[in-house]
Amino acid sequence: MRQLAERAHIAVIGGGITGLSAARELSRTRLGAATPRVTLLEASDRLGGKIRSSEFADTTVDLGPEALLTAIPAALDLCHELGLADELVAPAQGRTTVWTRGRLRELPPGILGGLPDGVLPIVRSGILSPAGVVRAGADLLLPRTDGADDRSVGSLVRRRLGAQALERMIDPLLGGIYGGDPDRLSLSATAPRLEHLAREHRSLIRGLRAAGKRAPASSGPMFMTLPGGLQRLIRGLQRQLSTVEVHCNEGVQRLTFLADGRYRLSTTAGRNLTVDGVVVAVPAYAAAQILGDSVPEAAGLLGGIEYASVAVMWLSFRATSLPPLPPGSGFLVPRSERRTLSACTWASAKWPHLARHDRVLLRCSIGRGRPQAAALDEPTLVRDVLGDLREAIGVREDPLETHLARWERAMPQYAVGHLERVARLEQTLAGQPRIRLAGAAFRGMGVPQCIAQGQAAAAQLAAGRWP
Ligand SMILES: Cc1cc2nc3c(=O)[nH]c(=O)nc-3n(C[C@H](O)[C@H](O)[C@H](O)COP(=O)(O)OP(=O)(O)OC[C@H]3O[C@@H](n4cnc5c(N)ncnc54)[C@H](O)[C@@H]3O)c2cc1C
Repeated sequence: MRQLAERAHIAVIGGGITGLSAARELSRTRLGAATPRVTLLEASDRLGGKIRSSEFADTTVDLGPEALLTAIPAALDLCHELGLADELVAPAQGRTTVWTRGRLRELPPGILGGLPDGVLPIVRSGILSPAGVVRAGADLLLPRTDGADDRSVGSLVRRRLGAQALERMIDPLLGGIYGGDPDRLSLSATAPRLEHLAREHRSLIRGLRAAGKRAPASSGPMFMTLPGGLQRLIRGLQRQLSTVEVHCNEGVQRLTFLADGRYRLSTTAGRNLTVDGVVVAVPAYAAAQILGDSVPEAAGLLGGIEYASVAVMWLSFRATSLPPLPPGSGFLVPRSERRTLSACTWASAKWPHLARHDRVLLRCSIGRGRPQAAALDEPTLVRDVLGDLREAIGVREDPLETHLARWERAMPQYAVGHLERVARLEQTLAGQPRIRLAGAAFRGMGVPQCIAQGQAAAAQLAAGRWP
């Protein structure tokens, strides 16, 4: 490998939360004798990727992610480091509600946020028909479900608790996070706790009960957010990138290996950039294109990661025009209901900073029950969403305002074998330790996981040999 100039030059491709976290970390880290020169290349005209906030109904709302999971500390730690921690707010407490069998019904309380740890809670919830309850209860009697290899969440839950429990309890919960079909989602990648319970216990219900007894009493909220929108995280990060050369409107098209061990990046601005190391923090399909010429095997694996499109619609109503909202903070919709809505949050009741005496703000997610819905024209979509809201909660009047955000190919689908695919991907790049992949497509798509992956990519580069 060639002798490096005094300062290594590292490119970060992609200015979402993953790339920004990597760039910040790199700009504060020594690679060998000096901190590296860091260039961040972002294809669009703005930083933040899926994190995007917007003015709506005289306040600021999130169009992409709206909540930070507290169990994975990377996001809250970053808030601390950016001086934002004192402003974090928790949502109003409330059970999760599912729109099924013609009305809103509370999911039974359970340690996995809706998976029952007994038959009685299932009966009480009314989510399953009597036949569905009997089938779920069969879990207590069925022999152990073996399985060493990864399989779908659907195959395990269907087998243990039956089709109704899968469709009406697990599908809305998991689908809300991964936007996918539980019959295709990887158990290991999306529900590792469930996989663990199935391995440790003959019955899933008994396993859930045992785990519930062992679980420590909750010490705080499960989620938090930032009033003023999560884009404040992006602005906070941006302020700390004073030594990073940030180029928006400049996407990377191709990475080429150079004879001296460095890389050439060809960009949409017609530039060729020579760098010593790269963090690729873009969606898998974009990474496949960038690496297509140089590491075709990696590109093939990346190109096999599918994406789902979704949309988010904000609606603002006069408070007096709506019937009283049911308890909780909104509802989830099973895919099997084939609705335009896949979830609706009473945002002004859920988040204290959005509370208004004269308005009710709803945040609706679209696209799982009717995947083609996310691409419908806006007036049709508003009409269909209002149709669902009319049936679910009795909305009669038109909203004062709506705002639609479409997210095309936004949710990477962690299909069965996902973790193995990621491991193979890393293997194909084992000979290129100065190319690191990070982001939502790989080891967790939540904001905290993306921050952690960006930071880890920077740390892995720093751990390499630099003069
Ligand atoms: C509607 C929605 C709701 C969500 N809700 C939550 C939530 O409540 N909580 C949570 O934790 N997570 C949530 N998520 C998931 C989370 O927001 C994302 O997984 C995460 O923000 C992805 O970050 P990233 O940096 O890996 O990717 P992205 O945000 O996709 O960033 C990648 C960047 O790369 C750029 N790019 C693409 N191609 C190129 C190229 N060739 N060259 C240069 N740049 C390129 C893109 O323009 C983009 O800016 C949600 C996601 C969506 C879509």
